[in-house]
Amino acid sequence: MAISKEKLKEDIGKLKAAKNAVILAHNYQIPDIQDIADELGDSLGLSKISRDRPEDFIVFCGVRFMAETAKILSPQKRVLLPALNAGCPLADAIEPQELRELKEKHPDAWVVSYVNTSAEVKALSDVCCTSANAIKVVKNVPVKKIIFTPDKNLGWWVQKNVPQKELIIWPGGCYVHEKFMLDDLKGARKNYPDAEILVHPECHKDILKEADYVLSTSGMVKRAKESAAKQLIIGTEAGLIYRLKKENPDKEFYSLGAARICSNMKKITLNELYESLRDEVYEIKLDSDIIKKAQLALERMVQYV
Ligand code: SF4
Repeated sequence: MAISKEKLKEDIGKLKAAKNAVILAHNYQIPDIQDIADELGDSLGLSKISRDRPEDFIVFCGVRFMAETAKILSPQKRVLLPALNAGCPLADAIEPQELRELKEKHPDAWVVSYVNTSAEVKALSDVCCTSANAIKVVKNVPVKKIIFTPDKNLGWWVQKNVPQKELIIWPGGCYVHEKFMLDDLKGARKNYPDAEILVHPECHKDILKEADYVLSTSGMVKRAKESAAKQLIIGTEAGLIYRLKKENPDKEFYSLGAARICSNMKKITLNELYESLRDEVYEIKLDSDIIKKAQLALERMVQYV
């Protein structure tokens, strides 16, 4: 017989207390997971929270590169990813060997990698960035030539805003954000003329050019609170809209065109979370040398923002 949702939630709470664990959930997780999480946020924000929380047992409800980033920032802690196959095609768009070859071709360039990369790619990078700070990081690194990985749309946005730098942009992309089309934006303008349009920099450049704001998910959470607009159109994964509605009940939120779903982000259910806590799976294990080098790239990011 299937266990009820309420019973599962109760059992998760008991296991969490018994094991002194903390549950972190990314903004794109399903509502059940967002509701039960101790902390909700974007990938890097959650990794910083996991480093600062007193618990040394972290259950990261997100995708693999996020759980790896938490492990890199807190190597002494145990980090679990409840769904073994929760990957990110964008993070997988560049292999370490491909980056090594590119570095050999451009020895005078620095590598700036988006946090949506594997631990190995971070370890090969000079500095990391997020969608919120990529422009500042690229502007402030002490070289002109930059290999930017792995997202071509974010790379285009950064290059547009930092024309004094020369970016060699890796052609990766997020299949979810690339589903938003310019016609979706035109339709939204027509149907909601008073609405503000917020889009994520992983969207196509045509969309980035036309939106009112280009923001990371944490930037969208902030803007939604501060904006005087009563209607906001959101160009990112649909899971964020659940949080935005919950935190701003007096405003209306609509997806830019059809709701776009990241299947990788929906792999963790209450059942997976319960089993993960019960069986202590799937633990993130990384080579200590990779951790050290990737840590350096993440720490450098702080210097350049
Ligand atoms: S939304 Fe895109 S970048 Fe984010 S986890 Fe899914 S595939 Fe990766």
